[in-house]
Formats: sequence, C-alpha cells, structure tokens
Amino acid sequence: MLPQNLESQKIKTLVSLKSYNTWKIGGLAEFFTEPKSIDELSSVIAWSKRQNIPCHIIGAGSNLLINDKNLKGLTICMRKMNGCKIDPITGIVEVFSGEPIPNLARKVGKKGLHGLEWAIGIPGTIGGGTVMNAGAQGGCIADRLISVQVISLDQGHILEIKKNELNYSYRKSILQKEKLIVVSACFHFDPGHDKNRINKLTNQNLLHRLTTQPYQIPSCGSVFQNPQDHKAGQIIEDLGLKGLRIGGAEISSLHANFIVNTNNATAKDILDLMEIVQERVQKKHGFLLHTEVKRLGFNEIS
Ligand SMILES: Cc1cc2nc3c(=O)[nH]c(=O)nc-3n(C[C@H](O)[C@H](O)[C@H](O)COP(=O)(O)OP(=O)(O)OC[C@H]3O[C@@H](n4cnc5c(N)ncnc54)[C@H](O)[C@@H]3O)c2cc1C
Repeated sequence: MLPQNLESQKIKTLVSLKSYNTWKIGGLAEFFTEPKSIDELSSVIAWSKRQNIPCHIIGAGSNLLINDKNLKGLTICMRKMNGCKIDPITGIVEVFSGEPIPNLARKVGKKGLHGLEWAIGIPGTIGGGTVMNAGAQGGCIADRLISVQVISLDQGHILEIKKNELNYSYRKSILQKEKLIVVSACFHFDPGHDKNRINKLTNQNLLHRLTTQPYQIPSCGSVFQNPQDHKAGQIIEDLGLKGLRIGGAEISSLHANFIVNTNNATAKDILDLMEIVQERVQKKHGFLLHTEVKRLGFNEIS
C-alpha cells in the first residue's frame, strides 16, 4: 500500500521500464509517473524535491538504453502529456511534448501544412524529438521549430526558450545537457498545400522505412551517429558485422546501424555489441563512432 501522498500524485513504485522503451530492455523504476498536465508534472517534480531524489525523463524511450538494474529516483514518462493546436491558416502549431511525432506528421498533413512529411517513421515523442533534434531525409525538428516551453527541474519554473538559444546541430541541442523538461513546442509549417500530395509523400516515406529498416523487431533506431560524409550503417556493413549476435542482441541483417533485441537481450548484450563495433571501426578507420542512443541508469544520462 502506497503512502497516501504518493497515491494522490499517481506515483507508482517498482514499475518495469521494459514497456516504456522500444528496445524492451530495463529494470524497475523505484518511482514512476506519467503526468497528464503541467500541474501534475509540477506537483511530481515538487514531490521529488521534497524526497531529495533524482528525476529521469523519458518520452517514448525510442532512443534510450535503460540499465537492467533498478533505477533509483523518480522516472517521469511524458507520453500522456499529448495533444496539439493547429492553425491551418498561419501554419502555427502548438504541441505538447508527449505527442507522438508520426501522429503530428499525419495531423498537420491533413490540415494542408507542409514540412513534416519526413518525420512519419520516427517513433518518438515531440519532446524527445526536440531534445535529440530528430531528423531524416534531410529534414530535422529544428527546421520548423520556433520555441519550446520547459520546466526547470531545479526551480520548477516554466520558461520559453527560442530555437536560436538551443544550439541545434546534427542530433544535438543544449536540452541534452540542461536539467529541463520540455512540456510543449511551437512550430511553423507551410500552410495551404495540397493534402493529397502531402499524404502521398508521407506514405512513400513510411514505406521506404518499412522496407529498409527492421521495424517489426525491438530496436532504438540508429545506434551510432553518421560520421561526416559517411553512413555509419555502411561502415558497419562493410566490416561484415551484420548478423553478429551477443546474447539476445543482434546487429540487424537489414540495416547494420540497428541493433535489434531478438530474444530477451540485456542492456549489457547491447553495450557489448556497441563496443565491438566501435573497436572494429576504430581499428579499420582510425575514428570513433559516437553513439546517438542515450543511456539511462548507468550512473548518468549520457
Ligand atoms: C525504429 C526506429 C527508427 C528511428 N528513426 C529515427 C530517425 O530516422 N531519425 C532520428 O533522429 N531518430 C530516429 N529514431 C530514434 C528516436 O525515435 C528519436 O531520437 C526520438 O526523437 C526520441 O524521442 P523519444 O520521445 O523516444 O525520446 P526518449 O528516447 O524517451 O529520450 C531521448 C532523450 O531525450 C530526453 N527526453 C525525452 N523527452 C523529454 C522531455 N519531454 N523533456 C526533456 N528531455 C526529454 C530523455 O531523457 C533522453 O535523454 C528511431 C528509433 C526507432 C526505434
């Protein structure tokens, strides 16, 4: 039985994080919550401060390797803080951070707004997308972003941060370093476009994904960032590493930059495979492949 103050704040204990990431890996969260509003979020942050425990933020967990060991502190999953407001005339869109990126791509397309067709195959949330500067096919989240609204984990204040203050570059933003939770984002898309054309392009992009990437098997998308002028997947494939297995983890035979969980893989299986890839690439090419995937529960979020 939970103490009453926990119950009223909808904070659960010992929740398996396996269902909260696309790799389906991870231990139990000591405390876990899925706020549905800014008020609920503020109140759980205040609770964690009173308990003097750390907060960990997850969106859809589609870019996260979570340790198999139990995770101390409060894990806040933002998926339930979703929904958006679309102005089809101006193209201005305000969206809560838990909104799935593919849902937003469909919703804006239906209103004749062009500019998010590339994002259909990215199974993250808008919050995770703004943190990671998610991108594909030459597009990225920063392209159409105006600003984000964040809550500071230290002070609990709500702030608006303009795009130019976020230092966006390839899969990077200052949001990866700051103790801030993205609660919503504001975008500008191009209004007045042909909905059927947008839909066709969006479907083509999705089909391309489904045929070139192992979408049906748990993964976290691309594990490594592309080095300048190279594709990490091609480098790994050229080293003959496709199909290499450790425990339940395997370098996908469809796309070499994906590590798939084929059979109850552990975080260690994944880390060991990552290390082999990095060592082999370093030996052959003399540079380090940097990971795109973030880690949670390995002493720090990296
Ligand atoms: C099949 C597949 C295909 C993919 N394809 C692509 C692709 O083409 N391009 C691409 O860029 N990525 C791709 N990804 C990776 C992933 O979907 C993106 O990085 C996405 O933006 C992560 O969003 P998320 O909500 O899942 O974030 P999470 O994985 O939950 O979190 C990622 C990081 O952001 C932080 N975070 C999440 N939400 C918030 C928030 N609201 N406030 C503050 N911090 C937060 C977390 O703490 C963590 O550090 C793919 C993943 C999969 C599984």
